[in-house]
Amino acid sequence: MEKASKIYIAGHTGMVGSAIVRNLKANGFSNLVFRASGELDLKDQKAVAGFFETEKPEYVFLAAAKVGGIEANNTYRGQFLYENLMIQSNIIHQSYVHGVKKLLFLASSCIYPKMAPQPIKEEYLLTGALEPTNEPYAIAKIAGLKMCENYNLQYGCNFISVMPTNLYGPNDNYDLKNSHVLPALLRKFHEAKVNNKDSVEVWGSGSPRREFLYVDDLAEACFHLMQTYHGNVSVNIGTGKDISIKELAQLIKRITGFKGEIEWNTKKPDGTPRKLLDVSLINSLGWKYSTGLEEGISLTYADKFLN
Ligand code: GDP
Repeated sequence: MEKASKIYIAGHTGMVGSAIVRNLKANGFSNLVFRASGELDLKDQKAVAGFFETEKPEYVFLAAAKVGGIEANNTYRGQFLYENLMIQSNIIHQSYVHGVKKLLFLASSCIYPKMAPQPIKEEYLLTGALEPTNEPYAIAKIAGLKMCENYNLQYGCNFISVMPTNLYGPNDNYDLKNSHVLPALLRKFHEAKVNNKDSVEVWGSGSPRREFLYVDDLAEACFHLMQTYHGNVSVNIGTGKDISIKELAQLIKRITGFKGEIEWNTKKPDGTPRKLLDVSLINSLGWKYSTGLEEGISLTYADKFLN
């Protein structure tokens, strides 16, 4: 990408898309194209074809998706599969049709087998059964990265995919039913503190382990790969460190200053026991995370609740 390149960011209002926009602007890129969801329905094949015909972007960051936490994925199973397949197929195919020079597709670490050895290497993809709670989302994301891979092989495209670990940061979803664990706990502990509650309910047993990456670090990794990486292997992006949900709850309790108890609701699912990425490939390509978990959670807390 050059400073004057025309770059389309699909999903620019979401947590990942907005971080990519911040990153591109900070790196001096200003020829950026977006469409609000009310203006362009990415599930609509004709509308997406018309958009590419009109705008002819040179580069595409595909950060548009229907996303959510364990409960949302498990509830809206049909929608997660249909909407993601439609959005990504339309954008990837039109990028090919309109000669996009390079596209970056955001997949997810939940595409790996539930019982994958830890830390998870890129080559473990499609070696075992998926976690049932997010299987529809994972199947859509696997289709997307395979579409990129096979458009490269058949048509000579330059479409790359990344597998980010669990992300958090500004513009996250804080809806308690549909969000991921980190924003849900920030909100629950903050509101419990403000309302002088005695306890906060946290889901599951607390024993699952998760890896968390601050979204601005992800955006930097995507920018770096867009500028330097041309391989057909989808690249893991994470910190290489994980933490139990119990430890996460204690950390968020401390950051928010809540003084009451934590109550574990074991009727809620735990999901995958552990999901830690092997990040040696991205590290060898010249990127490493820079925001530690405590710092990132404090920044996120201040951004959402203290301003
Ligand atoms: P996952 O990584 O796909 O399993 O998605 P989540 O981020 O939604 O959940 C991660 C883990 O945190 C699971 O074991 C959840 O049961 C647990 N968890 C604990 N409290 C909460 C909560 O309030 N919301 C969510 N979404 N997960 C929670």
